[in-house]
Amino acid sequence: MAESRQNPARHDPSEPGRPVVVWFRDDLRLADNPALAEAARTQQPLVCVFCHDEASPGLRPLGGAARWWLHGSLAALDQALRKLGGQLVMLRGPAREIIEQLASACNAGAVYWNRRYGAAERSIDESVKTALRAKGIEAASFNGHLLHEPWTVRSRTGQPFRVFSAFWRTASALGTPPRPLAAPHRLSFHALDVAQLPAVGLTDLQLEPSNPDWAGGLREAWIRGEPGARPALDRFLETALTGYAERRDRPDRAATSRLSAYLRFGNISVRQVWHAASAAAAAQAPAAQRGLEKFLAELGWREFSYHLLFHNPELACRNLQPRFDGMPWRHDPHALAAWQRGQTGYPLVDAGMRELWATGYMHNRVRMIAASFLVKHLLIDWREGEAWFWDTLIDADPANNAASWQWVAGSGADAAPFFRIFNPVLQGERFDPDGAYVKQWLPELASLPASRIHRPWEAGEEALAKRYPPRLVLHDAARERALAAFRSVG
Ligand code: FAD
Repeated sequence: MAESRQNPARHDPSEPGRPVVVWFRDDLRLADNPALAEAARTQQPLVCVFCHDEASPGLRPLGGAARWWLHGSLAALDQALRKLGGQLVMLRGPAREIIEQLASACNAGAVYWNRRYGAAERSIDESVKTALRAKGIEAASFNGHLLHEPWTVRSRTGQPFRVFSAFWRTASALGTPPRPLAAPHRLSFHALDVAQLPAVGLTDLQLEPSNPDWAGGLREAWIRGEPGARPALDRFLETALTGYAERRDRPDRAATSRLSAYLRFGNISVRQVWHAASAAAAAQAPAAQRGLEKFLAELGWREFSYHLLFHNPELACRNLQPRFDGMPWRHDPHALAAWQRGQTGYPLVDAGMRELWATGYMHNRVRMIAASFLVKHLLIDWREGEAWFWDTLIDADPANNAASWQWVAGSGADAAPFFRIFNPVLQGERFDPDGAYVKQWLPELASLPASRIHRPWEAGEEALAKRYPPRLVLHDAARERALAAFRSVG
């Protein structure tokens, strides 16, 4: 294990012409890509490959929206490599076998990749590394995904962290993250003969939906891959960084970066974001300082989630606090379906769930409220919600999604206490005071005045014309039921 985190002896340039394979995974970009940069440094011809692996045991299949994002990211990366005279080779099958097969087929001298942090992924990477080295092929991995890798942030006693503030203080004290690497301007490529390899075209992977094609709203909302990432970052830095601390909780404002899917698939690196935000704040000083600190702390939550995933590989399926194993969750397919479709009768929850369905994204504050509603008001196991988000979010992330759901449920590390139960009406009135966000996603409520938009049942049946559903549960009663359930496992 320890060996896999080190970068062994560099490629021996005395063997001219032996290609270097760059194995792309969650790092679908050219800029600040340490594996690619190291491969370019050898000046050997490159083979750039993506292996679509749905066969290896333990790997969680991507959800529909993430598959859609992956398609766009791969297409963009292939296009960028073609501009440099190469291409992205797509192979399908279990990575353990395929990468070794590829390395042998092209007589590679080395294979480079950026590291992943899930247990199944690490196990695959470890065995690929062992197999390559056994054949005398250099195998080296790099950090392309995080500011600080999970094992580098340790408490004084050497233990992993369970509390965010202590984690982030310690991580921040490790110093400024390395400056991002420039995208290579020139690369040479090996002419790969794919005849003996399970090569496929991008469309063969069937990552995009057809029949029905439900991705129209996603296409309208997003430019996938590296070409969309930098403009999104620049827009955020120019228009929203300064007010980020004050406005980030407002779903009716464009007040956050919307970089999560780009970070998830590595269309931009967290180091690029960190340095660009720090430089922009320095230029806008002192007004942007508070916004910067808050924004970097959100990147810190991403780091913390990966720290938790690395040290708790079953983060998406096991309560970090065993007390929650006995929770009397309700089996209620009708309520679950109403939540999924945005038909709970609580406008902020429903607006969030419909934004998610339409665009593959939901604002963070609304994620917290919608998730809390499922777990506490409906008393449905957080894993049902985690699975729905996994399928519908373009940024569905193995660390952030699981850690956030456990945080909301109260079962996680440094979690919101279970007994603190959001009131979706008061949250709506506070964070969407004019109802602009709700009206955007629930057109059937568009005619209600701001004073009724988060409590439409007070507007009377006539105003709703029965187009909006009654509340699935009443807040006070649901709250009491949740607290009683929690006490029962106390
Ligand atoms: P910004 O506010 O601009 O933040 C910048 C970046 O910091 C984000 O892009 C993201 O990478 C990171 N970040 C921000 N907040 C968090 C957080 N609470 N935890 C971890 N990282 C954070 N985020 C995902 O990336 N993928 C998920 O699958 C995911 N699932 C979530 C599920 C629930 C129930 C909740 C409550 C939150 C979830 N989040 C997830 C965290 C957060 O909601 C999103 O990262 C954020 O809304 C993305 O919007 P943004 O890029 O504009 O964020």
